Amino acid sequence: MESTDYLIVGAGVSGLSVANFLPKGADWRCVEQLHEAGGYCRTIKQDGFVWDFSGHFFHFRHPDIEQFLRDRMPSDEVFRVDKSSSILFKGRRVDFPFQKNIHQLPQDDFIECLHDLYFREGDPDTAETFEQMLYAKLGRGITEKFLKPYNEKLYACDLSTLDKDAMGRFFPHADIEDIIRNMRFPDNSSYNAHFTYPKGGAMEYVRALLHDLDDERIAYNERLISVDLQTKTARTTEREIRFKHLVSAVPFPKMLDLCGVEYDEDLYTWNKVLVYNLGFDKKGQTQDHWVYIPERDKVFYRVGFYDNIFQTPRMSLYIEIGLEPNAEVDIEGTLPRVLADLERAGITDGHQLVSHHSIVLDPAYVHVNGPSQADFRVKHAELTAQGVHCIGRYGGWKYCSIEDNILEARALATQFTPASDDI
Ligand SMILES: Cc1cc2nc3c(=O)[nH]c(=O)nc-3n(C[C@H](O)[C@H](O)[C@H](O)COP(=O)(O)OP(=O)(O)OC[C@H]3O[C@@H](n4cnc5c(N)ncnc54)[C@H](O)[C@@H]3O)c2cc1C
Repeated sequence: MESTDYLIVGAGVSGLSVANFLPKGADWRCVEQLHEAGGYCRTIKQDGFVWDFSGHFFHFRHPDIEQFLRDRMPSDEVFRVDKSSSILFKGRRVDFPFQKNIHQLPQDDFIECLHDLYFREGDPDTAETFEQMLYAKLGRGITEKFLKPYNEKLYACDLSTLDKDAMGRFFPHADIEDIIRNMRFPDNSSYNAHFTYPKGGAMEYVRALLHDLDDERIAYNERLISVDLQTKTARTTEREIRFKHLVSAVPFPKMLDLCGVEYDEDLYTWNKVLVYNLGFDKKGQTQDHWVYIPERDKVFYRVGFYDNIFQTPRMSLYIEIGLEPNAEVDIEGTLPRVLADLERAGITDGHQLVSHHSIVLDPAYVHVNGPSQADFRVKHAELTAQGVHCIGRYGGWKYCSIEDNILEARALATQFTPASDDI
């Protein structure tokens, strides 16, 4: 039987990052169920369009992580972009975030939002759910005109089932002072005010992570199918491998199944996102990189414009539709509805679709709530104690960015020492 010190499952950003930061000369193997690396950070090139698995925007907060990637890429490969994003509200464009730009709404909506903000009820500090936090912090108007319908479309769930901090640092908080000040002195800065985008798509960052790795150690088209925690043996579709440490980016509940750990399946919920990448014959609006769509009569919750990032002459969109995990997906059947909604939203105007592609991300957004996080922490610690380290957006069952994935992987890999191989 084969054996290795570090068996990495999944050649996405998390798995590849672990391989990069393991101690020099470490004995590692990686198995990836698909034919290529990258996970959700892959790129499709089709008919002259460059598409990702919906837009992937990179906001590096740690210059050393960005430098690590850039050192392994051709130097002129990355766009630096000042973000422009908006909300489509009753046929007009409103700057994002909604709560800081209510003065741009039609007058009646503005007055309602301002009134409800001032007379909001409840204490955000004692709010338990995401929905309670929205009402207590921002009032009924802002919540019901944008935050609730938008997030219900995205998460495809009842917001009272999510933790108040379900979005962590990705939620644009604003208090009443910020909101009023923004009416005279606009400052819509957020965690993603600037972003980078590789010219060849998100996959270029994955190529950077592959740059120093011995390709022979990565086995594609090989899926992990079970783990014997007692003997520390992984069974894949191709072979059995003994390991000292197993690092997994497999979605956490799936990993519990593979390890034979019992758990309450109802605790772990998530949405899936149906993404269409759409290429058209001519240019559309040139201002925004993406637009939020809270209106329930449009099937998608967000539309992004690759062409306004890449500065290309034909409109190139991604559109995202949030779905419950067991929802049926009719890719060809939904496309006419998507195209009709784009026209009604004024995003297309006699544009001809010349190329398209679609993908279902499942899971896409984990539903973060108290009971699932409590169960996760216990089971994650139990697996870690047995040498199985679950990381990444889905292995770690959380909302995070690619940079977060790289940081987490580096922290884990650099904590391994030859002594830790003996556990
Ligand atoms: C709609 C959407 C938009 C996003 N936008 C952004 C963004 O703008 N900026 C940003 O920074 N992040 C963004 N993200 C997050 C980003 O995609 C993830 O953080 C990142 O791709 C997660 O990498 P990962 O390696 O942890 O997981 P994954 O990318 O899921 O990789 C896991 C890998 O494991 C493999 N695998 C799974 N099971 C097995 C098995 N049993 N055996 C073998 N292999 C297996 C999979 O095939 C996959 O290759 C977005 C995510 C979504 C869903």
